[in-house]
Amino acid sequence: MNLRLARTIAEARAEVAAARTRGLSIAVVPTMGALHTGHAALIERACAESGFVVVTLFVNPLQFNDAGDYSNYPHNLQADLDLCEERGVDVVFAPSVDEMYPRATRTHVDVDTVTEPMEGRFRPGHFRGVATVVAKLFHIVQPDRAYFGEKDAQQLAVIRRMVDDLNFSIKLVEVPTVRETSGLAMSSRNQRLSEAERQWAVALYKALEEARRVIESGEASAAVVKARAAEVLAEYPQVSAEYLEIVDPDDMHPIETITGPVRIACAILVGKTRLIDNVRATPHPG
Ligand code: AMP
Repeated sequence: MNLRLARTIAEARAEVAAARTRGLSIAVVPTMGALHTGHAALIERACAESGFVVVTLFVNPLQFNDAGDYSNYPHNLQADLDLCEERGVDVVFAPSVDEMYPRATRTHVDVDTVTEPMEGRFRPGHFRGVATVVAKLFHIVQPDRAYFGEKDAQQLAVIRRMVDDLNFSIKLVEVPTVRETSGLAMSSRNQRLSEAERQWAVALYKALEEARRVIESGEASAAVVKARAAEVLAEYPQVSAEYLEIVDPDDMHPIETITGPVRIACAILVGKTRLIDNVRATPHPG
């Protein structure tokens, strides 16, 4: 069957209910639209693993702590529908803000601890907005599986914790980060970069790669690793770093001595555009 566009919660629920009566397993891929090859990787994986795939397109005002970032967020519904149709998606759920929030929500999902460092520190309220909207989308679609990108590792850790703590019966699938050949992670916000800014933005991946190299060559001190990554960032004076942290891959807490697998995460500003990325690193045994 061809792609269908659901604009209301009732339409989305009716589509999923019909798929359930046909015995299909349901997948959801939550996105904010302006879809790119990174989103396509999640969608393709969902289509390969599930009988019925719902892609949600919703720029959630609740998770933006910066009004300018919200109002400038890119939109391209027709291109998003084309990408979904080509990949074999069944339903795109693209509700309006009024449909999702007909009145000010008095109920929020707050996940503590995992949300404190990094994005939580620099974007107050962001994860509360994310967890609340993802909980709503999970209740609307009631999927068997939900697909998220490793690109937003802290977001995934937050959702994982919410799903565990609140007993959602949903399997979370983590999809590796898709990058441009320069190493720059695909992001809807890359559309805002000028040609020059795009060249400077590679500083982010270069710093992460250097940190990974230093960890894998045996350095156990996070401070030493971070200092080395900071030197790489300093080669790009056009870029300013908000944070570069070495964290526990599960609870996202910064660690000082690296004894096992870690995640290195970084946020930078290139001009007015804020970019985040992360990589895993495992110290060499012995
Ligand atoms: P967004 O539209 O930015 O909210 O992203 C929707 C989903 O796509 C999230 O689970 C992201 O982690 C994932 N995603 C975004 N960029 C990439 C990428 N470059 N590679 C893989 N997944 C991505």
